[in-house]
Amino acid sequence: MLPELLQKSSLFSLLHRIDTDLANQCRERGCPFCGGPLHQAKYQRKPRGGPEGLPEEYLVRQSLCCGRENCRRRSLPVSCLFMGRRVYWAGIILVVMALRQNRPESAGTGELMRMFGMTRKTLFRWISYFREAFPSSAQWQKLRGRVHSSIRDSELPGDLLRYFIRYADSAEAGLVGCLRFLATGLGGP
Ligand SMILES: [Zn+2]
Repeated sequence: MLPELLQKSSLFSLLHRIDTDLANQCRERGCPFCGGPLHQAKYQRKPRGGPEGLPEEYLVRQSLCCGRENCRRRSLPVSCLFMGRRVYWAGIILVVMALRQNRPESAGTGELMRMFGMTRKTLFRWISYFREAFPSSAQWQKLRGRVHSSIRDSELPGDLLRYFIRYADSAEAGLVGCLRFLATGLGGP
């Protein structure tokens, strides 16, 4: 059910809308370094793993640049579509990790790789990130207190995604809610 969801362009349309809102809020606050006006400085990405034929405008990382001559610094709004500099869509990484955590070590991995086209190396890099780096990251430490204690640090991000889906009206709403929570810390169930 979740993998099929990731092939729906409506999901990406919704996430793109949220990212645009987040970028607009960031722009309204002005430059965090000098208070100057922020202008759009989006950059094109080629994210992998999603449906074919998504509009070009979704394949963009929202970014802002200060308009003051002596500053010109970049501000990167938080994003539900992208997870850092990783080449796969954030939703794909989240779902693949959640599904893999549910399965025995040997099963499922080949199927997930075929479905989304990632290599074993990429998959294991994500697994090691969520196992070793993410639970102690500043990002998770900030979010940890806002979710139920039944979510185990050793089962991230799967426990978190299942938690959001359990309390949402649909799997899609749960997935979107979880991505938004990871990006902003807002909207926990
Ligand atoms: Zn500035």
